[in-house]
Amino acid sequence: MLTDNFGRKFYYLRLSITDVCNFRCSYCLPNGYECEHDRKFLTLPEITRLASAFSAMGTEKIRITGGEPSLRKDLPEIIAACKQTPGIKRVAITSNGYKLPEHLSSWIDAGIDAINISIDSLDPRQFHAITGHDKLQHILKGVDMAVAAGIDVKINTVLMREYNGYDIASYLAWLKDTPVTLRFIELMQTGDNQEFFDAQHVQGSRIKQNLILDGWLPVINDKAAGPAQEFYHPDYVGKIGLIMPYSKDFCNSCNRLRVSSLGKLHLCLFTEAGLSLKDYLQTDDVEPLKSAISAMMTDKKQTHFLHEKLTGATKNLAMLGG
Ligand code: SAM
Ligand code: SF4
Repeated sequence: MLTDNFGRKFYYLRLSITDVCNFRCSYCLPNGYECEHDRKFLTLPEITRLASAFSAMGTEKIRITGGEPSLRKDLPEIIAACKQTPGIKRVAITSNGYKLPEHLSSWIDAGIDAINISIDSLDPRQFHAITGHDKLQHILKGVDMAVAAGIDVKINTVLMREYNGYDIASYLAWLKDTPVTLRFIELMQTGDNQEFFDAQHVQGSRIKQNLILDGWLPVINDKAAGPAQEFYHPDYVGKIGLIMPYSKDFCNSCNRLRVSSLGKLHLCLFTEAGLSLKDYLQTDDVEPLKSAISAMMTDKKQTHFLHEKLTGATKNLAMLGG
């Protein structure tokens, strides 16, 4: 089992398969994607080896992310390779959902268990203003299709003062009848978004207080749930989650490691550099890869340093997958 110096166990791998994205989210890639390196993203055989090595060390869940993972044409093959790896119980994807209705069936055929779709506003104009795309209705159609197909669907919503702030009424109305978990994520500062962060960051704690006052009850989560706090309400079909990276003890429940699309292990979203695994991924013998990953674990720090405004080498989360 992969364990760090602080006794945390890592069941969960977030695997980025590209850093390219077609959206221009204001907090992430406001000017759109700008390529700063060769596009030598992990290949299918490299991903297969990574999945085997991590599963042999206790990883049970892989989340495929990006950039926008659905921009890779071999995404269904990648999902299938992860899902067919012995020991991997769950394969999930995080996507902006821009082609969810068109792609959903191929992801399901490949074995996807769960889908996270990012929707930062339920108002089409606000959605357009945040992402640069007038796609809200299309994405909501895909969400309905995924729910109807029995897939576990979560919605990611980044809290921003001027866009969705503390006004969560439209989300609550939607969750009355929509069986998804909507997770409000506190905006995180990255290297590129400092001004935006200072203007837009709001804490999730006030939402949490209001939810509790309105009768929302905490969900008792299993070990794979990680740092999200989830709530349910008898009058609502949907659930609400809060991800509050600036809250006290947030990092104590860290259960995830990240590998970038360039094949670097990132022990935290906000480390100074990734540790390259590329050389170890060139052979089917995964033992040297496992030893390298285990050795790197001793460098994992107890917490991120976001409170001190230290964002490491992370210019935006499209680099790593959030
Ligand atoms: N493109 C896909 C998407 O948007 O779902 C996957 C990659 S994106 C980096 C993963 C998640 O990170 C999204 O839910 C996005 O909203 C979130 N995210 C990106 N930048 C963020 C930031 N600075 N603070 C908090 N969440 C952020
Ligand atoms: Fe693209 Fe996701 Fe970043 Fe938005 S949050 S720009 S969809 S990578």
